[in-house]
Amino acid sequence: MITRPYVALLDDDVALCVFMSEVAQAAGYHTLMAHDGRELATLLAAQPVLLVLDIAMAHMDGIEVIRQLAAARFTGRLVIVSGHGAAMLQSAKLLAELQDVRVAGILTKPIRAESLLALLQAPELRVATPRVQHEISQADLARGIENNELLLHYQPQVRLTDGAWVGVEALVRWQHPQHGLLYPDAFIALAESSGLALPLTRKVIAMALQQCSRGCGTLKFTGTLSINLPPIAMSDLTFPEAVEAAVNQVGCKAEKIMFEVTETSVPADPAKAIEILTRLRLKGFALSIDDFGTGHSSLENLQHLPFNELKIDLIFVRAAETDVASRLIVESSIALGCQLGMKVLAEGVENQALWHWLRNAGCDLAQGYFIARPMPLEQLAAWQGEWETRRLALI
Ligand code: C2E
Ligand code: CA
Ligand code: CA
Repeated sequence: MITRPYVALLDDDVALCVFMSEVAQAAGYHTLMAHDGRELATLLAAQPVLLVLDIAMAHMDGIEVIRQLAAARFTGRLVIVSGHGAAMLQSAKLLAELQDVRVAGILTKPIRAESLLALLQAPELRVATPRVQHEISQADLARGIENNELLLHYQPQVRLTDGAWVGVEALVRWQHPQHGLLYPDAFIALAESSGLALPLTRKVIAMALQQCSRGCGTLKFTGTLSINLPPIAMSDLTFPEAVEAAVNQVGCKAEKIMFEVTETSVPADPAKAIEILTRLRLKGFALSIDDFGTGHSSLENLQHLPFNELKIDLIFVRAAETDVASRLIVESSIALGCQLGMKVLAEGVENQALWHWLRNAGCDLAQGYFIARPMPLEQLAAWQGEWETRRLALI
């Protein structure tokens, strides 16, 4: 039996709710309605694939609802509705995405049936995509790390002026014996809360160094290899020596390795982090500040940290096309990076328009689905050939 998916509607305008419900039913969905944010839990119990949310309601505002959706790890998608104008809708969208709630779209009141219908017909709602949440235990993850079930996908990074391939970011996946291929959102938080982030990172570093030093068939790549570090690495004083030893063992050059540290991993009292980062730099490693814009780095902090690269978070890059505030964040991050002598990389470059805009804005490097999705090492050589023709058309 094929069950129809649910669409949940949360709006204190009862007539509007009924109208939207009729549109959703006509599009083949079951619907559930509520008119007060306090009924959110009841709506979520039906596991809707889509929640249409009015961000201005009497009893609980939509921003509070978004916070609760994030806390409940809502796996469906969100449609944000408001009569308060585009700026308000864009900030609500940004806020949701910053908390990992996926946004399918925004609708301004008065709502037209066609606009809602267009969102309801999006293919991702049909192909059963709520990210499956597997119950994973600490013991299972420890076993997976130990049994070499982790693997790496690599995502290319290219220079915006001429499209030259300059680096890859290693992104971890877990080939789970029961659940199949798992992405980081299924296990990184657990690793970080259960003391497994360092063992996981050590495996990732060992694998990445081995694979990249071996290369692959016809692959010609001499760029940098970027590796993500968990916050805990910023308090492990033995880390710099350990990676130096790992690099020496495979005969790689430290200059070719870039460690990505998120803005929020550098704590308020950063003495230890500064020591670790400085020693990594002294050993020749490059450093990148990841997810820039989502944290709270003060300029003062940044000035004193020895970063080579500033990586603008994909949330701002993807929103830059439509949202003025995001555009300003991207532009000021580029200016800041330039002033501090860092290369600036934009992640989440999903189309050609963004590519051209970023290049004109003075951004140095790009990473994103427009260039390439993360892929196994063996596929990089084929991508390199295909990109070579595509990049020529871009410059
Ligand atoms: P991140 O470091 O910000 O990595 C970028 C994420 O954005 C990756 O997701 C990548 O697949 C995705 N992405 C890249 N380009 C685009 C694009 O154009 N559009 C969109 N929508 N997404 C894009 P992924 O692989 O699921 O990784 C998620 C996060 O998991 C990473 O975010 C990173 O914080 C963490 N992570 C991944 N590998 C490791 C690791 O080895 N160690 C640690 N500690 N964390 C890791
Ligand atoms: Ca990263
Ligand atoms: Ca990021």
